[in-house]
Amino acid sequence: MGRPLIALPAPIEVLATPFGDQDCSKLATAYTNAVYAAGGQPVMLPVVTDPPTGLLARMDGLLLTGGGDISPDLYGEEPDESVYGVRRDRDDFEVALYHEAVERGLPILAVCRGMQLINLLRGGTMIQNLETEQNHWQTVPSSHASHAIDIVGDTALADVLGPAEGHVNSFHHQGLGGLGDGLRVTATCGDVIEGVEADDIDLFAVQWHPEQMAATSAAQQAIFDRLVKRAATRPANDTR
Ligand code: MN
Repeated sequence: MGRPLIALPAPIEVLATPFGDQDCSKLATAYTNAVYAAGGQPVMLPVVTDPPTGLLARMDGLLLTGGGDISPDLYGEEPDESVYGVRRDRDDFEVALYHEAVERGLPILAVCRGMQLINLLRGGTMIQNLETEQNHWQTVPSSHASHAIDIVGDTALADVLGPAEGHVNSFHHQGLGGLGDGLRVTATCGDVIEGVEADDIDLFAVQWHPEQMAATSAAQQAIFDRLVKRAATRPANDTR
C-alpha cells in the first residue's frame, strides 16, 4: 500500500483575510510534518456541520489535535472563567469522528484536548482549571520539555518512550478528572493525568504536545511512527 492516510481535524480560528475576519481551518504544520515523517499521508479535515458518516471511509488512522477548550455545554457544566477558545461546532465534528473511528477500528492518537474529549465521551469528567504547584503552561519554547512524567509500565506509552520517567512539554490549563470507562492511565505528573490508553480500542492519548517536540526528539517522533505503523497494519478496510 501507499502511505497510510491519517485524518487530522483542523481547529477553526477567526483570521483577518482580504474578505474580512473569517473562520479559517488552521492546523500547525508540526502535526502534519510529524505524520509525514512517520511515513503517513496527513489529510486535514475541515469542520463541517452535521457531519455525514463515511468521512473516515478511506482513512487508516485518526489524529485528534489540540486547541481551545471543549465547550462545557458538552458535559453539562457552567464554564469556569478561565475557559477559552470554545467552538461547539468543532467539538461536535470531532465527537462524530471519534465514534466513526471506533466503529471502523482505526487507530487513534489523541493530543491534549483530544484526550480530554475522549475521556468525556466515555463518561469521565473534566477539571476545568488545574490548580497545581507544577505550572502546566510553560513559557519555554514548545520544543523543550518543562516537566517530568512518571510512565506506567506495561503500557504502549512505556513501549514507545521507555519505562520510568520521561520529560514533556506542557500547554494545558485543564485536565482529566474522573477517568472514562475502559481507560487506563499511562502517565502522570503528580495528580495530573498525562496519558491514557483504552482496553477496547487502539487509543494512544497524551496531555502534552509531542508534535512540537518531534522534529528534535526521536522519542516524541516515535509516537507518530507508532500511529502510522498501526494504521498500515490494521485489518484491511473493506470499503476501500
Ligand atoms: Mn502537563
